[in-house]
Amino acid sequence: MGPHERHRPSAPLVVVIDGPAGAGKTTVARAVARALGLPLLDTGAIYRTLALVAQRRAIAWDDEPGLAALAVAFPIALGELPADGGPQAVRYAGEDVTAAIRTPAMSQGASKVSALPAVRAALLGIQRALGDRGCVAEGRDMGTVVFPDAPHKFFLTADLPTRALRRHAELAANPGAAVPSLDEVQREVAERDARDSSRAAAPLRQADDAVLVDSSGVGIDAVVERVLEHIRAATGA
Ligand code: C5P
Repeated sequence: MGPHERHRPSAPLVVVIDGPAGAGKTTVARAVARALGLPLLDTGAIYRTLALVAQRRAIAWDDEPGLAALAVAFPIALGELPADGGPQAVRYAGEDVTAAIRTPAMSQGASKVSALPAVRAALLGIQRALGDRGCVAEGRDMGTVVFPDAPHKFFLTADLPTRALRRHAELAANPGAAVPSLDEVQREVAERDARDSSRAAAPLRQADDAVLVDSSGVGIDAVVERVLEHIRAATGA
């Protein structure tokens, strides 16, 4: 049990889901959030929005002080999950950026800006404030850095071809966007994983106390059920 006051009955329920690109985190996190009636904290969307706003303001994706200044008091709002299973709306200063942040360019931009320690530090408080009343938090460092005391931690993974296929399908579902080839998507996913895993600041890593779920060759519904079963078993519900 350790020093972290786990299982405090009054503590808000925080479920964290970390893992590499295309492991199915977003789909699983959405379904788990719906099943438990919790808000979804998609932290990748925050880094993506920072990359988008920086590009519009001609702040380079390696300008650490410029990006950190932009990230302080970041006016981002993550919407409620629509009942029809659609994507969560993301707003920046009131503007709907939901589709604009889901392009391959913003995937790369997010991966670049998120490697900078001052950027991660600037966005830490915002992530905790958005999630501290209970949430399903999805990202790369939810279990290791942002919510280290969360009682339910999952690390979702899958082999590279499976993840590339999922990411390709996601891009194809984004209306109006050009869809790269499967090979290009696989290269992009591999490049992003290498950068996310090798960076010094909060690298992609399974928390020691996270449950590893490999979703290669497993339907997403089965993954959701496994995650919910773990939570039910741990809470005795
Ligand atoms: O999960 P998603 O693909 O939207 O994340 C985009 C990028 O944002 C990731 O490749 C990663 O570099 C970064 N990210 C991060 N830490 C998080 C969430 C996302 O570094 N908690």
